[in-house]
Amino acid sequence: MGFVPVMLRPLATRASAVRWWAAAAAAASASASCSFPTTTNTATSSKPTTSFARHYAAGDRSSPSSSSSAAGYHVSPSSFMRGAVFWEPDRPLSLEQLQLPRPKAGELLIKTKACGVCHSDLHVLKGEIPFSAPCVIGHEITGEVVEHGPLTDRKITHRLPVGSHVVGAFIMPCGGCFYCSKGHDDLCEEFFAYNRAKGTLYDGETRLFLHSSGKPVYMYSMGGLAEYCVVPAHALAVLPSSLPYTESAILGCAVFTAYGAMTHAAEVRPGDSVAVVGIGGVGSSCLQMARAYGASDIIAVDIHDEKLQKAKMLGATHTVNAIKEDAVEKIKEITGGAGVDIAVEALGKPQTFSQCVESVRDGGKAVMIGLAKAGSVGEIDINRLVRRKIKVIGSYGARARQDLPKLVRLAESGIFDLNSAVSRKYKIEEAGKAFQDLDQGKIIGRAVVEIA
Ligand SMILES: [Zn+2]
Ligand SMILES: [Zn+2]
Repeated sequence: MGFVPVMLRPLATRASAVRWWAAAAAAASASASCSFPTTTNTATSSKPTTSFARHYAAGDRSSPSSSSSAAGYHVSPSSFMRGAVFWEPDRPLSLEQLQLPRPKAGELLIKTKACGVCHSDLHVLKGEIPFSAPCVIGHEITGEVVEHGPLTDRKITHRLPVGSHVVGAFIMPCGGCFYCSKGHDDLCEEFFAYNRAKGTLYDGETRLFLHSSGKPVYMYSMGGLAEYCVVPAHALAVLPSSLPYTESAILGCAVFTAYGAMTHAAEVRPGDSVAVVGIGGVGSSCLQMARAYGASDIIAVDIHDEKLQKAKMLGATHTVNAIKEDAVEKIKEITGGAGVDIAVEALGKPQTFSQCVESVRDGGKAVMIGLAKAGSVGEIDINRLVRRKIKVIGSYGARARQDLPKLVRLAESGIFDLNSAVSRKYKIEEAGKAFQDLDQGKIIGRAVVEIA
């Protein structure tokens, strides 16, 4: 059955709100660029109560006692868990006690094992992308299936049995909207209308509530920075036991986004020249994808030499430090004056947006995958765009049901090297520190929070 023996273990029982990174607070307060984790959370949690049963009774008819799973996780209405809650910009992430979430039809309760640290979460933490609050951030997860929501389709329970290891895509397709019905999971209307716009799942409700007060807590994707999360089944793929939980978490956003950009937007062909601007978790995954597709020249552009050094291990044939050199001129020089077939922008800044467009050859593709501060605008030379047939393409994630299983296979076969892509690991108590390090450019590749 693929079940993994797991010892029965208690959920969190400590009534505590944890200060994320007390040791780093002084450093943070001196940093003008990163103010979100600089104050102290003083919230407290009461001892476990059964207030959870109210939500349970309202939305879920399955028996809580039936939820004790073959995976060995103790699940009951009075159980609770810890999750990293974002309250507002300039207030630190806090570890709060939340009621154990309840999955509904077509959803799975996952014991979260790892969650990647992504710039999209950072945009939310810094208030650059508005999102419902309080919320649990984190959208790049692996974990173990604990429970299926009641009335979940039998095909889903067969595909993802209790105890199976899974990876979750950050775009969680509803499976039934106009775009999902065409296989364009990456454009799912429900995901954007409910999750990204309201912080809920597709019945308009969150699955997360504070343990102490029952106050709703919204979900950025599945709210992955918590000990448990509820994920719509269409967002999940089975993870083989040969792949580790921690490194595989990045399949759900960094690798997923890179795959979508290179496969669906850029349609990279063997021999193409590719430039990637911004060598973070997503950008470095783009380098590996370009290599997998047989791109000839793969040019990594960043302002940190350590990231460029690492880029060479991930497939870059050339590197450009955009502080020391003019990135556009250098890319043209490397490509004999023509420019690249494909340039990927993975930073989300107006300046690099323009550089990307200027770096492509006539008829080339500029693929934009970096989310920017809300309201940011990129400029394009209209006449060049028209006369030289430049294609500017936006790309957001990939198609969970089609693509995620393929990414798992790429990782399993070693074509995509997960181990090289993940450079730092944190505990859930250090999640605030992880985002601070990300904000300060200290993370080479991707960091992952391990959740015990
Ligand atoms: Zn992400
Ligand atoms: Zn949909």
